[in-house]
Amino acid sequence: MKSLSAHDLLIAWEHGWNRHPVDRAQLLRTLSAPSADPVAIAGEPLGARNAALLEVRAATFGGRLRARIDCPQCSAPLELELDTTTLLDACQKPRELVEVQGLRFRPPCNRDLACIAGELDAETATRQLLTLCAIDKPEDLDLDALLSEVESALESADPWSDLSLAVHCDACERRWSEPLDVPALLWDEVQHRARALLDEVHLLAQAYGWTEGMILDLSDRRRAAYLQRVMA
Ligand SMILES: [Zn+2]
Repeated sequence: MKSLSAHDLLIAWEHGWNRHPVDRAQLLRTLSAPSADPVAIAGEPLGARNAALLEVRAATFGGRLRARIDCPQCSAPLELELDTTTLLDACQKPRELVEVQGLRFRPPCNRDLACIAGELDAETATRQLLTLCAIDKPEDLDLDALLSEVESALESADPWSDLSLAVHCDACERRWSEPLDVPALLWDEVQHRARALLDEVHLLAQAYGWTEGMILDLSDRRRAAYLQRVMA
């Protein structure tokens, strides 16, 4: 998996800042796999998308993931730390299809999420999503009767589509599942790094008269070494 270069990070920041999270996920996936067909990327099951983005995250920012959350019961601050390589080793690949009462469904993909992004009512959105995922669409298809059965079949067919971490608070012994939104997590880090890169370009361009492209072409190590000299 390709890491995101300094150029990629600024492209993502520039084109993603005012976009829907679903579009940001597509943008980050496309930047990380420039030779892949964007249409195929949009059609990959969400679990595959999440695994790919977690790999991009590890390649770009390292395999250690640290997060701070507050316990929902006693508000104690908790530091979460996990090794994404271990997590990825345990990744379960999505199944292509599930069958519920003789009807076939495929796991949802990013394109499906884009189609329902404008729907504000959660139940209607779920119904629309499952209609998109239905391979067999008989005229008398009554999704309402199958909704929960199809949802749980698809969840087990693509367990990485909706990731969560088991968390335990030592202070009050509360245990809960904390959602792990891989695209949102990666987007936050991309934004943060892109802003820092803009500052670095600004300082180095002022000091040396180099262009943005020249500065972004430098390795992180060289850029940091020049910055150290400029700030000295
Ligand atoms: Zn607690």
